[in-house]
Amino acid sequence: MAAEPSLPALKAEIQAFVHGPARAWGEHIEASGRLPDGVWDELNARGFLRLAAPVAYGGLGLSFPAYLEVFEAFAHMHGSLRVIVHVCNGLWRALAYAATAEQLERVVKPFVAGQRRVTFTLTEPDSGGGTDLRTTARREGDTYVLNGQKWMIIFADVADDFLVFCRLAGSRGADGTLALLVPRDAPGLEIRPMAPAMGVTGTQHGHLVFRDCRVPVANRLGEEGQGLAVAFNGFLDPSRIGVAMTCVGLAARALDLAVLHARQRVTFGKPLADRQTIQMWVGEMATDIEAGRQLALQAGRVWAAAAESEASGAVAREGHQGANPAGGAALANRPSASAWAAMAKLYCADMLQRVTDKALQIHGGIGYFRCSEMERVYRDARMLRFEEGTAEIQKLVIAREWLK
Ligand SMILES: Cc1cc2nc3c(=O)[nH]c(=O)nc-3n(C[C@H](O)[C@H](O)[C@H](O)COP(=O)(O)OP(=O)(O)OC[C@H]3O[C@@H](n4cnc5c(N)ncnc54)[C@H](O)[C@@H]3O)c2cc1C
Repeated sequence: MAAEPSLPALKAEIQAFVHGPARAWGEHIEASGRLPDGVWDELNARGFLRLAAPVAYGGLGLSFPAYLEVFEAFAHMHGSLRVIVHVCNGLWRALAYAATAEQLERVVKPFVAGQRRVTFTLTEPDSGGGTDLRTTARREGDTYVLNGQKWMIIFADVADDFLVFCRLAGSRGADGTLALLVPRDAPGLEIRPMAPAMGVTGTQHGHLVFRDCRVPVANRLGEEGQGLAVAFNGFLDPSRIGVAMTCVGLAARALDLAVLHARQRVTFGKPLADRQTIQMWVGEMATDIEAGRQLALQAGRVWAAAAESEASGAVAREGHQGANPAGGAALANRPSASAWAAMAKLYCADMLQRVTDKALQIHGGIGYFRCSEMERVYRDARMLRFEEGTAEIQKLVIAREWLK
């Protein structure tokens, strides 16, 4: 196995990029409302889109915990840049989860190399997602015929393929779910651009309509009935931990900005930093961020251990035991890696709201204006309460383990 690259050197390289070229890009995006041409190619050329993929697939081969450590710094960037790094470093897992040898060559390796862009396509306008999926596939020979809709799909303007989660017509629950790779030029697929979002300026989202859309059976990843396993085990669980780490990084940026402002702004003859109220808030923010960071890192370690066990066939993912303060045979299987991921996402997204709210308050009214980076951070932060599922959905995932 190839040796892991030096983390301190990689971190320094990322920091230099984030506080150099990426800062200028972020300002350009906010001013123009568009991603500059060449952003994807530049991120790819620097190797930032394949940090976490295994060396065998063409990636750098960072372990998941090591990736999380370096990934935090990317969250100091503009949200539209961070999300490209996040999706590319995670989606290969869903693509590879149940890929055949032929699909590894045709789909996974070109994705890791940045030659093919794929986007995760789950959310629907008329269902609750997961087992509530309504988009259907009907098999006709060596083709699936899709009908339904997906929306809020990121990168819909640039994706070569959509990784679509749907179900066999007439199936219910997790049974019959499918993961299908739908090319953007598939007959019967209409891609409608959506209105710009509140934050992550410059990133386009799409509303996809499938009307008797024909997709080769060869584009199915995994078996019929494995669709949700590809979505959740392959992508959503580690992605939730990545989103948790995004929250940590963005909150740390908000704290940096607040501290800078508190030192500079003088009211009634004293810098804000000398006021006890501001000191209390800074103490709370720093503690909240560190608690989130440790939870995200722990979730990452548990997920990585579970994935390794699963790969070696020793322990099923559901049966993996993380730190279990309650102990006892009946409780031995919880929290699972999925529950750790949900806990990290839940806590860190809430933490980010608390921290950005205080950071904006420290800025006073000027922080509410577009000339302040704090204004952009606040808007980008709000999106993270939706990415990879809301707080309510995370709580359901966690509670299910305690109540089942
Ligand atoms: C900027 C942006 C980009 C996105 N990109 C993508 C993408 O690329 N691909 C993709 O597939 N999705 C994407 N999404 C969708 C995102 O994952 C969803 O918005 C999110 O999971 C919430 O689902 P929903 O919008 O359907 O909310 P709904 O399911 O309509 O929920 C509305 C509210 O009701 C609550 N609720 C729903 N069901 C329950 C329940 N059973 N019990 C209790 N409360 C409940 C929710 O927590 C929420 O607060 C994106 C969203 C945004 C904002």
